[in-house]
Amino acid sequence: MTKDNQILQDLPFSYLEAAGPKVQKEVHEEMIAEQRRLREQSLKDSLTGLLNHGTFFMEAEQLWQETSRTGSPFSFVMLDIDWFKQYNDQKGHPAGDKVLLAMTSILQEIARKNTGMAGRWGGEEFILALKVNEETACQIAEKIRQEIIALNLNVIPPSHSDSAPLTASLGVISSKTQLPFEKLVEGVDRALYRAKGDRRGDGVNGRNRVAVYRASDQIEILKPEPDYVP
Ligand code: GH3
Ligand code: MG
Ligand code: MG
Repeated sequence: MTKDNQILQDLPFSYLEAAGPKVQKEVHEEMIAEQRRLREQSLKDSLTGLLNHGTFFMEAEQLWQETSRTGSPFSFVMLDIDWFKQYNDQKGHPAGDKVLLAMTSILQEIARKNTGMAGRWGGEEFILALKVNEETACQIAEKIRQEIIALNLNVIPPSHSDSAPLTASLGVISSKTQLPFEKLVEGVDRALYRAKGDRRGDGVNGRNRVAVYRASDQIEILKPEPDYVP
């Protein structure tokens, strides 16, 4: 909004009336554009520009409904950066923010290529809703895991003295499970939790891996590709 029009908008209505129809129209149009900008901002995460938790949930449900109607596949991939508190403590919060932006680029590219959407689920947790089947979603999750390692960042995990590559843990679920939408969200969260494994320990029994939810009593940890070198 121009400075003059902003001033007019903030003055009593009689001033705007006196400014004449041309200026009134301008102020009105600028107010509408401003409202649209504010609305768009409120739907997105301010750091990454990804859909925020609430918006992602609503838009992913619409995508899921569409795939249910048309019989197309649908999957969630959820990821959480490993030892991110340590990373922030060791490298500083601005460096942590840069990692979140690097994750964003990786996920946006995947969402774009697979007719899907990416969101920031929480602090260092991200989520993808994709029109792909379970097998493809698992391959994508594994690719993301490797791309994060390829960023070549390091962190010293708790109770360790040496630095290790910065990694993430990932969960996958697909609509093949026949679960309703909310249960799919719960299920992918459970798969991610399983991938994390030993959450409080030294990390030797978990993290840096992909788990797929097949049924409530069947969450499988996927083996990394045989030629994968950490
Ligand atoms: P785990 O492997 O179990 O996931 O451990 P973690 O340290 O990643 O998990 P924890 O939940 O203990 O810590 C999450 C950290 O993420 C703590 C917080 O400082 C950081 N974080 C959350 N949001 C942001 C952000 O916007 N920017 C930065 N730089 N850090 C953030
Ligand atoms: Mg977390
Ligand atoms: Mg984490």
